[in-house]
Amino acid sequence: MNSRSLFSLAKKHMPGGVNSPVRAFGAVGGWPRFIQSAEAAYLTDVEGKKYIDYVMSWGALILGHSPGAVVKAIIDSAVRGTSYGAPTVCEIELARRIKKAFPSIQKVRLVNSGTEAVMTAVRLARGATGRKKIIKFDGCYHGHSDSLLVKPGSGVATLGIPGSSGVPEEIAALTISLPYNDTSTFERVIRTEEKNIACVIVEPVAANMGVVPPREEFLWALRKWTQKYKVILIFDEIISGFRVSHGGAQELYGIAPDLTTLGKIVGGGLPLAAVGGRADIMNHLAPLGPVYQAGTLSGNPLAVTAGIQTLEMLEDKTVYASLRERTVHLTECVRVLAKKKRRAVRVQSLGSMFTVFFSENSVQNFDQAKKSNARSYKHFFHQLLKAGIYFPPSPFEACFLSTAHGHQEISRTQKVLEKAL
Ligand SMILES: *Cc1c(COP(=O)(O)O)cnc(C)c1O
Repeated sequence: MNSRSLFSLAKKHMPGGVNSPVRAFGAVGGWPRFIQSAEAAYLTDVEGKKYIDYVMSWGALILGHSPGAVVKAIIDSAVRGTSYGAPTVCEIELARRIKKAFPSIQKVRLVNSGTEAVMTAVRLARGATGRKKIIKFDGCYHGHSDSLLVKPGSGVATLGIPGSSGVPEEIAALTISLPYNDTSTFERVIRTEEKNIACVIVEPVAANMGVVPPREEFLWALRKWTQKYKVILIFDEIISGFRVSHGGAQELYGIAPDLTTLGKIVGGGLPLAAVGGRADIMNHLAPLGPVYQAGTLSGNPLAVTAGIQTLEMLEDKTVYASLRERTVHLTECVRVLAKKKRRAVRVQSLGSMFTVFFSENSVQNFDQAKKSNARSYKHFFHQLLKAGIYFPPSPFEACFLSTAHGHQEISRTQKVLEKAL
């Protein structure tokens, strides 16, 4: 069966035929490709067509698909049992490595998904401060827990809806969503609401409305005012952690948050995420404190082992410089061509991630991202797909390079990009 008929079949069994909405290609039309296998920088679909992959499981796979050492570690671990529901030595080892990379993290709890990590961080912030409201920023995505589905980015932005049905207004009312990169609006709101705010949560490098780097003064203002009013600052580094540098955006900008959420890369391609931060806050978690959180498969040895092996390979600091260099090389050709042809195209990138916005101006926030031309993106996307280049099926997502994207892949991609533009 080909992807098109498999999609019809899948729709009979699963809502929209998928287990996560963006995969359904709703924003770009057509039908999703069903993937048979993946190796290094390539995906192969059920029809045997190969694609150079720039989705990389939405950023999780910084070492490419099925890197040998990680696969071996998973297999070795699986034969010793897949889950015990009891403590293991490898959990200590992963916690130690996370703390080493993120000095702001004194204690860490492992969970199974980014959504769970952020949900726990917010509950902890509320439990530790005794306050109810939270501040987030438009177009930042923090998973799909109730409190955070207010003006989120990523899949919800792709669908063009403001939030989610099923979230009671009483809960949504406790979430204040403000424009990203807008320091003065933030300062005005936190000054009036200071006593009610449990936490401020932000993607320190936004990547779920496309890649939107922060203004540094914006991040510094978040740190300054939260410190002043004893509000907990949460950096959601589920994409940026181990991606923009080994120690994430907090290392890049030199700003220490109170809590950090990690996911994607930290699980080495398996379901694992983490919440960590100041010990005095983390100690509110059960069994030490009254904030409850638990998980049947949390810290399971397969995911933990994959995470350890991945982080070990990322300790080679040349990885980040080389990824950045290749990304610059790839995106520069688009910038130059767009300028030459006078196309309204903006490539925004940071480290090894980038977004091609069909926009006249640079994109600093969600309103500007939404003004980019979705029809042009759709066209562009299908040109690339046809030519064997797999970009995200939405104008509000990031492209990711991995260490498996070599010169050959980059120069092929360049040729296709130039033609598509
Ligand atoms: C992917 C992502 C999440 C959600 O993680 P899941 O594992 O998909 O639940 C949360 N925050 C950010 C910044 C993300 O990119």
